[in-house]
Amino acid sequence: MRLFLYGAFWIGIYFTVSVAPLFVLLIGDTPPGRGFWREFSVGLGFLGMSMLGWQFFLTGRFKSITSPYGIDVVYHFHRLVSLIAFLFILLHPVIIFISTPVTLVFLNPLSSPWWINVGFLSLLAFAVIIVTSLYRLNLGMKYEHWSIIHSYTSVIAVALSTIHIVGVSYYVHEPLKRWLWIFMVAAWILGLAYIRILKPLLMLRRPYTVREVVKERGDSWTLEFTPEGHDGMNFRPGQFAWLILEKSPFAVREHPFSFSSSAMHPERPAITIKELGDFTSQIGGILPGTRAYIDGPYGTFSIDRQRSQGYVCIAGGVGITPIMSMLRTMNDRSDRRPVTLFYGAKTWEDATFREEIENMKASLNLQVVYVIEDAPEGWEGEKGYITAEVLSRNLSEHRYDYEYYVCGPQPMQTAVKKALDKLGLPMERVNSESFNFV
Ligand SMILES: Cc1cc2nc3c(=O)[nH]c(=O)nc-3n(C[C@H](O)[C@H](O)[C@H](O)COP(=O)(O)OP(=O)(O)OC[C@H]3O[C@@H](n4cnc5c(N)ncnc54)[C@H](O)[C@@H]3O)c2cc1C
Repeated sequence: MRLFLYGAFWIGIYFTVSVAPLFVLLIGDTPPGRGFWREFSVGLGFLGMSMLGWQFFLTGRFKSITSPYGIDVVYHFHRLVSLIAFLFILLHPVIIFISTPVTLVFLNPLSSPWWINVGFLSLLAFAVIIVTSLYRLNLGMKYEHWSIIHSYTSVIAVALSTIHIVGVSYYVHEPLKRWLWIFMVAAWILGLAYIRILKPLLMLRRPYTVREVVKERGDSWTLEFTPEGHDGMNFRPGQFAWLILEKSPFAVREHPFSFSSSAMHPERPAITIKELGDFTSQIGGILPGTRAYIDGPYGTFSIDRQRSQGYVCIAGGVGITPIMSMLRTMNDRSDRRPVTLFYGAKTWEDATFREEIENMKASLNLQVVYVIEDAPEGWEGEKGYITAEVLSRNLSEHRYDYEYYVCGPQPMQTAVKKALDKLGLPMERVNSESFNFV
């Protein structure tokens, strides 16, 4: 309930600060009306701009903002709100052109006032952000390149829009209204300064070194860290963090990974990384002693957030990492609540951590159902994918009392959630972690 109220509070704040400029602009001396559609289009422009400016706070990983929802939900909200805001901004000139066709002359940059050209440039910058975000994979754009373009173009777009508003100087000619925009832009700049300057500075004071690099099954590597001059990181089992390796915390290149270690040992956090692309394929070559920075913890995917008599964990491939953290933590806590783990792996040899999981059966109240895609000859366990039938065959009669944790590739997550729904399990008890934000 507290989290719900907290979440509702932040949504309320977001909408209030986004819509506030519209009302403030109507206070005091307003310029003479220029017809409904013109005024309406200006309102849309102001609203869209304000909604976009406050996005710096949404994506700034402020824990107080992300903790009620989970950062993936915040990013989803960011995407949705940005699309709506972009539509508002796009409609601003379109409505003016349709309602006042004489303004079509502004399409010629050579004869247009500078502030109109700046407005079009800001629209172009917003369009670049939207197109590269929606079609990154179709454009063959690497995540790192997209991330750099996204960060810098957002700042440029918001700066150009502000210059456009000040240049037009309609509705913002009064000191009070000017101050409103100055205040808002200053708040956005402060948000940015926190993300790009203050946060990295704070991270500089809490470095880690790689203590050990351990080869795991399934083309994966575990990096174990030692905090340097501090106590480490307190996290909940299942949470994740952003990792920066061999670079300063000011580096734009950082990658999110779930903790795979026990939350009972904040002084020796570990993550397990599957080889996939440029960054992850180099992990095996990282040497002990390498400097690392860890920005976290984040995420709501944790057994510590929901009280339950028992748990059902469903992992696919490297999706086992946050679940391993949960199992290790329960082990360290001597927690004997029942856990059923469905573990889908391509081959039996690929099943990361399988020896340790088998050993934990002795100390935990743990039942493990391996579901092997390419099962070896003579395999008597479950084969193929984790389906409703596999789940139904192996879930206990207490299945409706337990909390569910699903982590794995997107198609597997979607299929498993459908299967759980088919079995009549309450969806509010199904928690999932996606390894893909964009
Ligand atoms: C919450 C969360 C937890 C994760 N936990 C783990 C884990 O425990 N173990 C593990 O092996 N993997 C985990 N991942 C996935 C991991 O972050 C990506 O596999 C890794 O960043 C890929 O980087 P790359 O350069 O090697 O691959 P690339 O080939 O460059 O990227 C492959 C895909 O990974 C995503 N990606 C790449 N770089 C980033 C980035 N900097 N930030 C966000 N996404 C990116 C993009 O969708 C990209 O298309 C997690 C991801 C998320 C979002």
